[in-house]
Order: sequence, then C-alpha cells, then structure tokens
Amino acid sequence: MPIIRLVYSSTAVGPMSYADLVGIMSPAHEHNRAHGITGLLCYGSGQFLQALEGDRHAVSALYHRIAGDSRHTACQLISVTDVVERDFPEWSMNVVNWDAGSSAHAKALGAAAPSSPDFDPLTMTGGQATQFLRHLAAVERDLSTDG
Ligand code: FAD
Repeated sequence: MPIIRLVYSSTAVGPMSYADLVGIMSPAHEHNRAHGITGLLCYGSGQFLQALEGDRHAVSALYHRIAGDSRHTACQLISVTDVVERDFPEWSMNVVNWDAGSSAHAKALGAAAPSSPDFDPLTMTGGQATQFLRHLAAVERDLSTDG
C-alpha cells in the first residue's frame, strides 16, 4: 500500500491550554502507533497545522475522523503527497505549542516562509507548510538532544 503524507490546517474552537493539547496527544499517540502513522502537530494563534504520514488507507481514515472532531473547525487540506521516506519517522504523535515556542521555532518559520512572519497556515502553500514542519522537526530534535 502506498505511503502518503497529508498536511492540513484547522481552526481551534477555543483557546487550547497545555492540558487540552495533551488531551489530544495522548490517545492519538496510541492510535497512530497502532496504525503505523507518524507525524507532527503544531498549534499556535488558534490554528492547527498537522502532517500525518503512513499507509494511504489509514491516513485517509484518520483524517476523516479528525475532521469531525468538535475541538476544531474549518479543516483544510494543504497537500497530499506520495512519500518514499517519512519526514517524522520517530514520532507517532508530537505536538509543538507555537505560542510557547522559542526563537529557534520562529527561525523554522522564517526558513520555510520568509514572507510570513506569523504562524498562519492559511497563507502557506503546500510546499511552505511541509518545509515549515520539517524545520520545526529539526528544532525539536535539536532541543531533545540538548537535554
Ligand atoms: P471519541 O474519543 O469517541 O470522541 C468523539 C468526539 O468527542 C471527538 O471527535 C471530539 O469531537 C470529542 N472529544 C473527544 N475527546 C475530547 C476531549 N478530551 N475534549 C473535548 N472533546 C473531545 N487522533 C488520532 O488518533 N491521531 C491524531 O493524529 C490526531 N490528531 C488530532 C489533531 C487535532 C487538531 C485534533 C483536534 C484531534 C486529533 N485527534 C487525533 C483526535 C481525533 O479527532 C479523535 O478524537 C480520536 O481519533 C478519537 O476518535 P473517536 O472516534 O474514538 O472519538
């Protein structure tokens, strides 16, 4: 079965606390691991941007389930691509809270979308959104190896 990467954005229905994000992440981690799905979720300024990688059937089914979640609205597909190598192989689920992020996180945005100083997935092209998430993953990896 082909492996795909699906990137979408959405709008949170209300402000998301750290506990709210953990409430999404914990069960998602279990489900994604059981279905061979990897990816990265970024939340900031009331917006979500998520990449999901895995078997096309599993990713499609999950996307439809996520799109029906009442914690967010206006899910918008940004890109769907066949992939040979995953960009986020080590994370069945990882959440970055952009609003609590560091200057290293901001640099990830500057590198991927120089014309967008603010985290605003709605203005990103598919290429920019994917690049942004790749840069963000690199920052997360650096932060985790720094201790
Ligand atoms: P149930 O657990 O039966 O929940 C049904 C509905 O109740 C949900 O759709 C939601 O509207 C609501 N709900 C559930 N829990 C809560 C809560 N704690 N607070 C408020 N309302 C709630 N799931 C994954 O498995 N993998 C992912 O990568 C993933 N990413 C997500 C990203 C975002 C931005 C959001 C908002 C959710 C994500 N989820 C993810 C969760 C997913 O939408 C489903 O809630 C989850 O898969 C469980 O599905 P279910 O049909 O068993 O729903």
